[in-house]
Amino acid sequence: MSDSGANARPTGSRAAAAESDAAYVRFDNVQKSYDGVSLVVKSLNLDIAKGEFLTMLGPSGSGKTTCLMMLAGFEPATHGEIFLDTRPINKVPPHKRGIGMVFQNYALFPHMTVEENLAFPLEVRRMSRDEARQRVAKALEMVELPGFGGRRPAQLSGGQQQRVAVARALVFEPALVLMDEPLGALDKQLREQMQYEIKHIHENLGVTVVYVTHDQSEALTMSDRIAVFDDGIIQQLSTPDELYERPQNSFVAHFIGENNTLHGTVTEVRNGECRVAVDGGGEVSALAVNVEGPNTRTTLSLRPERAEIDPTSTDGLNTLEGKVEELIYLGDHIRTRLTVAGHDDFIVKVPNTHAHRPLKVGEAATIAWLTEDCRALDPISR
Ligand code: ADP
Repeated sequence: MSDSGANARPTGSRAAAAESDAAYVRFDNVQKSYDGVSLVVKSLNLDIAKGEFLTMLGPSGSGKTTCLMMLAGFEPATHGEIFLDTRPINKVPPHKRGIGMVFQNYALFPHMTVEENLAFPLEVRRMSRDEARQRVAKALEMVELPGFGGRRPAQLSGGQQQRVAVARALVFEPALVLMDEPLGALDKQLREQMQYEIKHIHENLGVTVVYVTHDQSEALTMSDRIAVFDDGIIQQLSTPDELYERPQNSFVAHFIGENNTLHGTVTEVRNGECRVAVDGGGEVSALAVNVEGPNTRTTLSLRPERAEIDPTSTDGLNTLEGKVEELIYLGDHIRTRLTVAGHDDFIVKVPNTHAHRPLKVGEAATIAWLTEDCRALDPISR
């Protein structure tokens, strides 16, 4: 599958890495096997720029944490090399990599106060007491917890503990911070608040962040770029909007946001577009994003907000006939479920404006969309 990132590159070599471009972190053809048989990270080539917020996003078991553990130095790579600021680090022990880390389970020392927890990474680095005191105060201010230094972790809420964990990862001013599902244990409201806080801290400090999550909205909110993982492979490496607007394959189209699928057979490919005979009737045009050629199967992907129902004119649009099955009023739009091409799960978000005639359940409807909004991707069965 393709890696469509701006810095996708052919399988690298040490020589290529040594010539040094802007990469601050570089995974060079990295593989990982825990059992010596199966690869849980298959062949990872990934460049992360200095100051970037890069998120590894994917379902559970797709290899994200393993990649982070290899970067942190807690797991050796089975094959390949990791570079930090152009330096190969495979043989550098974790504590000498100078990387800050935050995990889901805060891992604060329960017997130490907040201040002592924060001072710990500085003591390890033999910083003077005065400087350590200043750094700790600054870190507590950054996470908006001044005045909490004397408490023990048990005297803090979950969100406060996690903020202390963030402060502790940043207190020694590392150039790189790794975060693995750091907000996983928090409730939704607190999680969203912390997403913005971490994003702002990142912006203010200019630190490079590699963040792991399985939560797509978290990834879309926080990241400069997102690497979507599945089965130990980066399926796509893009900015958040690119990932949503231009998924390169069916996995990404389904994993990010809501998505309608239509199955069919390609009849013609020309100038980056294709004609597709849709199973269940009708022929439509789509962008030929990931198709193998005429007479091959494809899955069409169309976002629910890009389809229209009963437009005043269908000139220049693709159309299929459908039947309204369900209408859900959501204030700004009516979530409309239809049967199209034999499947009853086609969703159109109809804006709640005067321009749209109210629909009724059971009535026939024409669904229309622009060719540029419909992507012909690799076939998936269902
Ligand atoms: P993710 O972070 O995407 O959930 P992981 O990197 O944790 O994925 O896991 C990838 C695969 O490696 C999974 O199949 C998992 O069971 C396996 N795995 C992870 N850690 C270990 C380990 N320490 N020993 C053996 N297998 C592991």
